[in-house]
Amino acid sequence: MKNLYHSTRNKEKYLHDYEAILQGIADDGGLYILDALGEEKVSIQKMIEYSYEEVAICVMERLLPSFTKEEIADCIDGAYTHTFDNEDITPINMVGNNAFLELFHGPTSAFKDVGLQMLPQLMSKALKRKDNHKVMILTATSGDTGKAALEGFKDVKNTAIQVFYPNQGVSEIQRLQMVTQQGSNVAVCALHGNFDDAQSQVKKMFNTKELQAAFQEDNITFSSANSINIGRLIPQVVYYFYAYIQMVRKQEIQIGEEVCFVVPTGNFGNVLAGYYAKLLGLPVHRFIVASNANNVLFDFLQSGVYDRKRKFHKTISPSMDILISSNLERLLYYMSDKNCNEVKEYMKELDQKGSYIVKPALKEHIQRLFYGSCCSDAQCEMMIKEVYETYGYVMDPHTAVGFKAMKDYQKVDQEHRCILLSTASPFKFSQQVYKAIFGKHLDLDEFAVMEVLARHSDTRIPENLYGLKDANIRFKDCIEKEQMQEYIRKTTKEIFYD
Ligand SMILES: *Cc1c(COP(=O)(O)O)cnc(C)c1O
Repeated sequence: MKNLYHSTRNKEKYLHDYEAILQGIADDGGLYILDALGEEKVSIQKMIEYSYEEVAICVMERLLPSFTKEEIADCIDGAYTHTFDNEDITPINMVGNNAFLELFHGPTSAFKDVGLQMLPQLMSKALKRKDNHKVMILTATSGDTGKAALEGFKDVKNTAIQVFYPNQGVSEIQRLQMVTQQGSNVAVCALHGNFDDAQSQVKKMFNTKELQAAFQEDNITFSSANSINIGRLIPQVVYYFYAYIQMVRKQEIQIGEEVCFVVPTGNFGNVLAGYYAKLLGLPVHRFIVASNANNVLFDFLQSGVYDRKRKFHKTISPSMDILISSNLERLLYYMSDKNCNEVKEYMKELDQKGSYIVKPALKEHIQRLFYGSCCSDAQCEMMIKEVYETYGYVMDPHTAVGFKAMKDYQKVDQEHRCILLSTASPFKFSQQVYKAIFGKHLDLDEFAVMEVLARHSDTRIPENLYGLKDANIRFKDCIEKEQMQEYIRKTTKEIFYD
């Protein structure tokens, strides 16, 4: 059992890492976890001269017991060679005395690339263990995930991906990123409605019996690229170690010294990966969980009450506009002494009543390691302006929410070094960033605003974003939800059989 995964909600069924990756979520609604995580530590001393790729092998093999070293190395090569525009993959950038861990150097300029470049590689190895199998990824997106998933799955053998985005509800840049996607196994389509409509329709498709039966007949597994998949989580553990190693090399910290990580948080995937790194031996004092106006996690960390019954705010850090942080379930499992029944109970209450209260001991346990902070749009804009004026460095709004949290935390702890996870390129949000710094909207198109911002900050616009200006539009369909099933069948047939 030691090398097998099981659901956070029961210990009756165990499965291999590769099966968990193909399935994504457990049948009982729980998330897959590995009990043995942390029993064997990763040695930082040993890795101190290692490249990102070498660190990735040491870390990922702890979480993928059925994979050989060669397989993992192969996946890392497929995921990160020539796809990131920085040789450190996730470089530390010292801005004054502040350490920014820049996670946005991948093909779509957001941190989700780190996970979504890797997931298809792992899936493709998993498929090799199941003869003649194919996987069809179905995803609804509010913007970033869809594009990052498309880039990751593009031309990966025996996989295909269909992304639906709401025709009202993604930014112009995000839309362009998706409808111009290259690759022979990808499909993108707009759906009438908003993100919630798209999301619930896609969920419905996963439960449509006819569709499932048709897929099964053709040996096709239906899967999602959701952030609860361990195949997205595992690669994220790597950059926590690599960040620490870079800080040691830069002589910003001593080896063994405890640090804090500040994490702009939505679904709790990123910060959970940090917790996994700590379990694997990384010296972490605390994690600072940064939320925007959707401050469910902030309240939870204060009170021990998780209550999603509240107003949903649309903010300028949209990838963190989330009221249910799914990956928190994994933290509850580990921190409740691996008590499946307790976790199941909390999740049942969340589902039925919209809230749950954790036991006092669990609350204290969590509070010792996690500190919450939240931030309004106005405060977020102030941070962007302040950092630009002080250092000439331009942050995106998600990172700025983190910067505010870091400042809050440094009022109570001056002893530990903080590392701030920078989750998106500012050029993905040029209009908002420009307005934050200069106090007004620029009445120009997205690309012109990018150019202005680049001039003012003396930085280069990522090619993947600027290139959209002249890119060919490939996908023009916009359908009604009733047409979805038919549409998916058609794409699947075209991709796998034509
Ligand atoms: C997804 C996302 C986040 C939130 O990460 P989680 O793992 O969902 O907590 C933060 N910033 C950006 C730019 C993102 O795309």
